[in-house]
Amino acid sequence: MFAAFTAETGLKMQSQSAFRSYATQRGVYDQDVTASGQAAADTDTARPGTSEHQTGLAIDISALPAKCSLAACFGETTQGTWLATNAWRFGFLLRYPADKVPITGYTYEPWHFRFVGIELATEMHSNGVSTLEEYFGLPAAPQYK
Ligand SMILES: [Zn+2]
Repeated sequence: MFAAFTAETGLKMQSQSAFRSYATQRGVYDQDVTASGQAAADTDTARPGTSEHQTGLAIDISALPAKCSLAACFGETTQGTWLATNAWRFGFLLRYPADKVPITGYTYEPWHFRFVGIELATEMHSNGVSTLEEYFGLPAAPQYK
C-alpha cells in the first residue's frame, strides 16, 4: 500500500504504530487518562485488552515527513485523503470514520486502519458499509459498559 501510494503521488507515508503488547497499551492508556481524564481517554484510546493494536491487525499511519500525526488534520493531508479513498484496495478499513462516532464509540481517527482482508474490504466498499459494527449487524458501541 505504501509503495502504491508513492508510485501514484510521489509522496511518502510511514507506520507510526502497529502491534502493541498489553503492557504498551496499558502505558498508552494510562498516559491518556493522566493527561485528559478517563472519560476523555475512553473516547480515543482503547483500554488495555481491547485495542485493535493488540491483535496485530491495526496500524496508525502518518505522513513522511510527519505532518498532522495522530491528529484529525491528517485526514486532509494527501496521505490521509488517499488512504481514505484507496485503503480498501489493500484490505484495510478506515476504522473510525468521522460520521460513525456514535457507532464505533471512537473519535475520528483518519490515521487508524484495520486490516480485514481484500475480500471483505472490497465487499464493504462496494456496498457502502464503512464500519464492522454495521457490516456484522453488531450493536453500536458508543461507550464502555
Ligand atoms: Zn490506532
